[in-house]
Amino acid sequence: MPELPEVEEVRRTLEPFIVGVKVVGARVVREDFVTVQGEGGKGMQGLVGKRFVKTWRHGKKLFCVAEDAQTLVIHLGMSGRVDCLPGAAAVAKHTHVVMSMESGIEVRLRDPRRFGGLWYYATLAEARAVELAGLGKDALEIEVGDLLERWKGEKGKLKPRLLSQKDVAGLGNIYVDEALWLARLHPLQRVGRISAGQVEVLVGAIGKVLRESIEMGGTTLRDYRNAADEAGEFGRKLQAYGRGGQPCLRCGEELRSAVIGGRTTVFCPRCQKRK
Ligand SMILES: [Zn+2]
Repeated sequence: MPELPEVEEVRRTLEPFIVGVKVVGARVVREDFVTVQGEGGKGMQGLVGKRFVKTWRHGKKLFCVAEDAQTLVIHLGMSGRVDCLPGAAAVAKHTHVVMSMESGIEVRLRDPRRFGGLWYYATLAEARAVELAGLGKDALEIEVGDLLERWKGEKGKLKPRLLSQKDVAGLGNIYVDEALWLARLHPLQRVGRISAGQVEVLVGAIGKVLRESIEMGGTTLRDYRNAADEAGEFGRKLQAYGRGGQPCLRCGEELRSAVIGGRTTVFCPRCQKRK
């Protein structure tokens, strides 16, 4: 499942194919994959004849903004992919949306499991209002003070809170396990009992694992690819995720695997003590 680094990698590889390039056609193969929001929006056809001017990302959401502020928001869900291919290339199964660019490239969204989707907004302001509601700051931009303020007196547990997206946007199962292992924090630690010093270590650990993964093109577990059809290499750097039963790379203790908030969680019972 793509998390922040994988979505960032898709954004980075998609951008050169769409920014400054005119859209000459848009085809929706599966209507229910596209949600049209906002007043006066024309949907995908409204983009024909327009150029995109920028892309940006917040958490796991990817925004593509056109010159007249029409905005597409891509959610990759579990298995979403963005392919940028010559128009003559065979269309893969599960391709739900095709945007033809003046360059001859087609941007194709496909998603076999359809947990993702494409949201169309007539304006960027509407896209921001809807898509960012209830989301915390992007995980690469959070500050210690943000979390201390949000977590003061709170009884919620650390891993479920980080997965909820409401405090920090962009983390999923992989990077939460990695960041908590690095910060030596127990996944079931009550957030209100984490000291300012520990929150500082956590924020540093989140930034470190995300930046390292972005540098390596993200993590490919099954079929994730960026928009240039390349897999990510961070998988071989994982220190906690997927290593249950193996020795902790810091202390040698056997890493424990447990189900927390419905997600398999790996942590070191010696390094990550609950306080
Ligand atoms: Zn350990």
